[in-house]
Amino acid sequence: NNSDQNTFLSVLNEAQKAPVLHKDGPLMVIAGAGSGKTRVLTYRIAHLMRQEVDPFNILALTFTNKAAREMKKRIAELVGGSEAKNLWMGTFHSVFARLLRFDGDRLGYPSNFTIYDTQDSQRLISSIIREMGLDKDIYKYKQIQQRISSYKNSLITVKAYFQNPELLEADAMSKRPRLGEIYQNYVDRCFKAGAMDFDDLLLRTNELLTRFPDVLMKYQDRFRYILVDEYQDTNHSQYLIVRALADRYQNICVVGDDAQSIYSFRGANIDNILNFQRDYDDVGMYRLEQNYRSTKNIVNAANSIIANNKNQLEKVVWTANSEGNPIRIHRSPTDAEEGRYVASSIFEHKMQQQLPNGSFAVLYRTNSQSRAIEDALRKRDIPYRIYGGLSFYQRKEIKDVLAYLRLVINPGDEEALKRVINYPARGIGQATVDKLVVAANQTGKTVFEVMESLGSTDIGIHAGGRRRLEDFVTMIKSYQVLDATADAFTLAEHVAKKSGLLQEFKKDGTPEGIARMENIEELLNGIKDFVEGQKEIADARGDISEFLEDVALATDLDMDKGDDDRVALMTIHLAKGLEFPYVYIVGMEEDLFPSAMSMNTRSELEEERRLFYVALTRAETQAYLTYTQNRYRWGKLIDAEPSRFLQEIDEKYIENLTPEDSYQFRPMLNAAIFGEVDKRNLRREKPVAGKPPGQNQPTEKQLRRLRKIRPQLSQPSGSEGVSLEGLKEGSLVDHSRFGKGTVLKIEGIGNDKKAEIRFERGDVKKLLLRFAKLQIL
Ligand code: ATP
Ligand code: MG
Repeated sequence: NNSDQNTFLSVLNEAQKAPVLHKDGPLMVIAGAGSGKTRVLTYRIAHLMRQEVDPFNILALTFTNKAAREMKKRIAELVGGSEAKNLWMGTFHSVFARLLRFDGDRLGYPSNFTIYDTQDSQRLISSIIREMGLDKDIYKYKQIQQRISSYKNSLITVKAYFQNPELLEADAMSKRPRLGEIYQNYVDRCFKAGAMDFDDLLLRTNELLTRFPDVLMKYQDRFRYILVDEYQDTNHSQYLIVRALADRYQNICVVGDDAQSIYSFRGANIDNILNFQRDYDDVGMYRLEQNYRSTKNIVNAANSIIANNKNQLEKVVWTANSEGNPIRIHRSPTDAEEGRYVASSIFEHKMQQQLPNGSFAVLYRTNSQSRAIEDALRKRDIPYRIYGGLSFYQRKEIKDVLAYLRLVINPGDEEALKRVINYPARGIGQATVDKLVVAANQTGKTVFEVMESLGSTDIGIHAGGRRRLEDFVTMIKSYQVLDATADAFTLAEHVAKKSGLLQEFKKDGTPEGIARMENIEELLNGIKDFVEGQKEIADARGDISEFLEDVALATDLDMDKGDDDRVALMTIHLAKGLEFPYVYIVGMEEDLFPSAMSMNTRSELEEERRLFYVALTRAETQAYLTYTQNRYRWGKLIDAEPSRFLQEIDEKYIENLTPEDSYQFRPMLNAAIFGEVDKRNLRREKPVAGKPPGQNQPTEKQLRRLRKIRPQLSQPSGSEGVSLEGLKEGSLVDHSRFGKGTVLKIEGIGNDKKAEIRFERGDVKKLLLRFAKLQIL
């Protein structure tokens, strides 16, 4: 009824209501960060359900599975009941993996196909290169894997590759004339192993929908309403799937922001937005302009940054939120110092505003930057979680257990087999495995099938070796027998014990071995949880194949159950769509951000700038931008220059926390002042090319750049000592890093004058006044 409708939609503004209430037909919402695009998608789905659209007929594609889970939960609250469970919702990869489980047999895949992760793909490619006798310095397996991946995402099949003279020539020119053969072998081997890699999940879906009109019809009819979040980052393969599925009913709703397109390096295609109006008739176009996430300062600063991009759709973003603090820019001498600054700033905010750890995020351009931040957070006992590093499921011991389980489901899975056939060691050598692989390639059988038929065919393996291989086959088969009746947990526990894996780590006895055992335990707990959860779902059995499906496509964000309170550390790419009250963007330096690899063309630089726009617009209350003067990169200490992006922010919205006078700050002195000996810094002092130790002064170039950023930097400010005249025992002071404190004692004279201060957070420090960033209160 009407009043019900009104309360339901009362949490939306008028501009948001329009796309939610848009009747059937295609629509697109293009709007800036934080304007409620995801919220619109959520409410549109809830609204459809309230209009009696069957959730089985709704497909929603999100950027992470976590986003899908949260959206589902929200929708369940909005519509009540348990119907929301029946929505098809998830990432492109997880949704279409599911579709391929149902209909992949049309393409010759078993329904229990394995999903190869990037590491599996790389291993396979590396062994193909070896088997083909190619030079591994020319045929670099990682590069080749990326190459194959990009072919697949552009729907260039092996056949299409060989028919394309340009590609053939390009690879011949780069001295890799046999790349096509590698591609061919790789595809054949995956297929024979009953495996799909990540790219196959999209490529094969496309193939399925193109080659089999009846399958296409079935899913067109099923997915009468299709919704896509973060549409600006869909690649060509994804675009084609959506277009095919939506073709019949045309009930397609996409939301996105061209200014947040940050995955073109992975094939995302901004044209998908631009072409939308061409692809469909009568497209409803909607714009949202009000940002609800961030303060005025953040919104305006972000607008001033993105205005530097030539290539963009015109857009307005404003907010009725409060002004907030300016964006704070902070410079540190080194990356270790930067980490310490971030940790102490988080600490101070936590204390002063009584905030949970989850209010903070530290964002960086590359994963390697996390280490310095981690070290600093650990020293301060601030719990954190890293997203996108080595995820739990990528750890060696976890992959070992999972490999056994994968074999149970699909013994043809060659990468899983090779991983554990001799782990724990059971006397099966590489030479034996090579013979198996050769035999498999010659006969078209899988390696496992070759092992099963050793009794009848001689492939030159001696009796002892044969017996050990047969034992392995028997072991896997016994697990399969158990799997027929047991749930995932029972099977996994049995396998961890009987395969000898747990024993192996226990025997090891080192702290690493113990940590590995604990991780396996954690895995078993996770499986138990999963089994419990599956019980709620009608046709689920809670068996291991269901679990493996879940895990194969899990991202780190999915691991986050939100049950513990931690600071989030992640790359900017991963942060898309998320929001945090306090955001620290670290490493704002030339060659790092923008990345050295992305400054060759305007379009690359503009993508970096969009990345910066994404980063800044994650912040709700306060944003910090930090950079360093010196940073260790590739094992060398290099002079760092502040990022050009810092200059691009309108000065009105920023506050510089580190005026020029603190340039004297040197790692050696730092150790002396704070009593914290950072061995890395001590070691690092020497190798600065052409400079005596202790003279890490900024270069002329750096200073020029800095002056450009903040004109006031060029004015020499008075030395700190002057402002500290009057400092005596009992004075109340405020330190930029340590907060408020009381002076206990003053000693020394001139340049050596020091103050011993007890800070409110509890510790006592001796500070050299010449450098201390103190204010008398
Ligand atoms: P992004 O571009 O970063 O993905 P978005 O456009 O998807 O952002 P949302 O995440 O949907 O934006 O919304 C941003 C924040 O604003 C969320 O916390 C959301 O709950 C809140 N919000 C959106 N619309 C409203 C509204 N009408 N009233 C109150 N809060 C709102
Ligand atoms: Mg969003």
